[in-house]
Amino acid sequence: MTETAAPVCVWLKRDLRVGDHPALAEAVARSRGGCVFAVFLYEPEVLAQPERDPSHVAFERECLVELEAALGRLGIRLLTRRGEAVAMLEQLRRETGFRLLVAHEETGTGVTYARDRRVRRWAREAGVEFLEQPQTGVVRRLASRNGWNRLWEERMEAKRAEVPRSTGRGGLATVARLATAGILDGRALGLPADTKDRQPGGERAAHEVLDDFLSRRGRHYSGGISSPLSAPASCSRVSPYLAFGAISLRTVWQASEARRREVQASLVETTIPRDRAALQAWQRSLKGMQSRLHWHCHFMQKLEDEPAIEFHNMLRAADGLRETEVCPERLAAWQAGRTGYPLVDACLRSLLATGWLTFRMRALVVSFASYSLWLHWRPTGLFLARHFLDFEPGIHWSQLQMQSGTTGINTLRIYNPTKQAIEQDPGGVFIRRWVPELAGVPKAYVHMPWTMPADVQGRAGCVIGRDYPPPLVDHAAAVREAKRRLAIVRHAPEARREARGVAARHGSRKDRRGAMQQDPVRRTLGRHLPPRKTPPAADRQRRLPFAASDGDLES
Ligand SMILES: Cc1cc2nc3c(=O)[nH]c(=O)nc-3n(C[C@H](O)[C@H](O)[C@H](O)COP(=O)(O)OP(=O)(O)OC[C@H]3O[C@@H](n4cnc5c(N)ncnc54)[C@H](O)[C@@H]3O)c2cc1C
Repeated sequence: MTETAAPVCVWLKRDLRVGDHPALAEAVARSRGGCVFAVFLYEPEVLAQPERDPSHVAFERECLVELEAALGRLGIRLLTRRGEAVAMLEQLRRETGFRLLVAHEETGTGVTYARDRRVRRWAREAGVEFLEQPQTGVVRRLASRNGWNRLWEERMEAKRAEVPRSTGRGGLATVARLATAGILDGRALGLPADTKDRQPGGERAAHEVLDDFLSRRGRHYSGGISSPLSAPASCSRVSPYLAFGAISLRTVWQASEARRREVQASLVETTIPRDRAALQAWQRSLKGMQSRLHWHCHFMQKLEDEPAIEFHNMLRAADGLRETEVCPERLAAWQAGRTGYPLVDACLRSLLATGWLTFRMRALVVSFASYSLWLHWRPTGLFLARHFLDFEPGIHWSQLQMQSGTTGINTLRIYNPTKQAIEQDPGGVFIRRWVPELAGVPKAYVHMPWTMPADVQGRAGCVIGRDYPPPLVDHAAAVREAKRRLAIVRHAPEARREARGVAARHGSRKDRRGAMQQDPVRRTLGRHLPPRKTPPAADRQRRLPFAASDGDLES
């Protein structure tokens, strides 16, 4: 190995792991005698984004601490620098002479999208080869959604990119001398303390959470993910690890697929009815969870294809619907969990405390904000993004628009907060836990405390208007008005025409039985793909559990 070979730089962003890391693996493969080093940047513009919460920084720090040690074992030094990306990368280039920069493609926010474009331009001008590797099923420069499902499946089934030990010595002494900002906590970055009782960060935690789900908790996924009482344990809880890249989507998919096959095999051999029922519950659950892994990328692909949907209505005919009616008091009440609707309030307060909510409750709080309070999805979405530990821009903004009726391609799904409360928290246990003002309210009134007679209010220690607010709006009347306004927009001929374009661009491709359509042309990835192995049709149907069983997921 020659000492003169240049080192290779891996720029880590939301890929804080060593397992199945295509960028690190590629860097080691391409290092040709040069050493490999990794850099993580604390970028002021990223840290200042309104989506950023101290909990994100703390979670990221936990990932980085573990990653530094894991990379060290692979002979790869992890440095951090604090500053604007182009300036920091140029500084490192001057210090080390790297000519190859490897990173993962990111479907991020407007800020990181613009930053990545600047970095690409800088690399071209500086003569640095900038290699961006995919790490999910999201396809960059996708020509058409036709066939996307198969590309996704091929990525998920491809061999995982395990990172070999870096043995290159070129530039090793230089890299060893490089200054590093260290792994910073929120205080060092000038941020308030993280107060959330949240999931711990790190690659080890990611695997533990996944293993626990696949071996124990996952059995109750099917049927257990809607209620805020059962969902925290029944859901996989892998979302923050996927968002920060502490585990790859492929790893999660392959582990769930291995488990599904194991269950399938046991089912063939089992005749005892009780055991069969348990295995069938596992089967339904794994299928449901796997369909959502697919939706993960399906939604991200929308933002990848059309970055503007972070800020603008997907259906531009919906412009003007809510933009002009800004009501700061309603927004503030919703954010504080003081709308007077107990389940909505409990959800928002639990989110602020834990950084997580199950899908149905996320949909409920957005539906309430967008239809009942007639708030624009952007400020409510920013608030949720800040408090979701798993904030993933592509899923988040697509879902926000879908749950607000601005995509033009989804059925309006308006949740009734009282009906949801009665169905999902019949005893008011979740409500009382997060809205302590209602702790003494009898079960008969806990879902509609405003109907409590004055004497019951007195005995319950909860006077409406003093201890707990009356309903901020009349839900039924507000929803009638919301539907009227939306109908005018959505039924206009030009909106229907536009909606057909949105469906062609972003809609899922399913035939009438719910199976994904086959791709006629391998247009986008074409030559980069491994040869196609098309399993028999019946087998494909069985292996692609993507026909959404839950109408809420329809794209
Ligand atoms: C308004 C709104 C905003 C959302 N914002 C985010 C977000 O910022 N980040 C995020 O990861 N998810 C988001 N979701 C989707 C979903 O609620 C979360 O992925 C899920 O609750 C995370 O918990 P889990 O990992 O236990 O999920 P599980 O149910 O165990 O699912 C496993 C994985 O599948 C993916 N997934 C699950 N549901 C969906 C879905 N509906 N759409 C796309 N992918 C899905 C996630 O990666 C999840 O980790 C949002 C949903 C709504 C309604």
